[in-house]
Amino acid sequence: MSDLRDLYQEVIVDHGRRPRNFGPLPTASHHAEGFNPLCGDRLTLHLQVVDGVIAAARFEGAGCAISTASASLMTEALPGRRVDEADALFAAFHSMLTGPDPVPPAGLGKLEVLAGVREFPTRIKCATLAWHTLQAALHGAGGPVKTE
Ligand code: ZN
Repeated sequence: MSDLRDLYQEVIVDHGRRPRNFGPLPTASHHAEGFNPLCGDRLTLHLQVVDGVIAAARFEGAGCAISTASASLMTEALPGRRVDEADALFAAFHSMLTGPDPVPPAGLGKLEVLAGVREFPTRIKCATLAWHTLQAALHGAGGPVKTE
């Protein structure tokens, strides 16, 4: 298990230092801003949604290694998923960090590297910030998204 933890840690550090999908998205159809006052993490999420499918996801902002790695991994995981699939992924991710079962739900793939954050309650909001921002982008004040 410790080898696995080291590997997970490496992935988090890598994505924290060299975030993927970082920058503006001129073709974006959805935006939202997120702020985690506990840590000072800020991010702006840009999504391109076409016919109810997330075609592209990018983000900007500044935050700690956990929030940056989480946003980076999320934007890798989203493209190609329907909005309802992204909602299900959010639910699974949230359950992994805050649910009673320490075994992560199925289907999270690489996002499982963040499972260890559940042991650090003050950092959970760092890891979930990007995902709450995703919910705001998809379902927030910009108007409901048509999933089909
Ligand atoms: Zn943070």
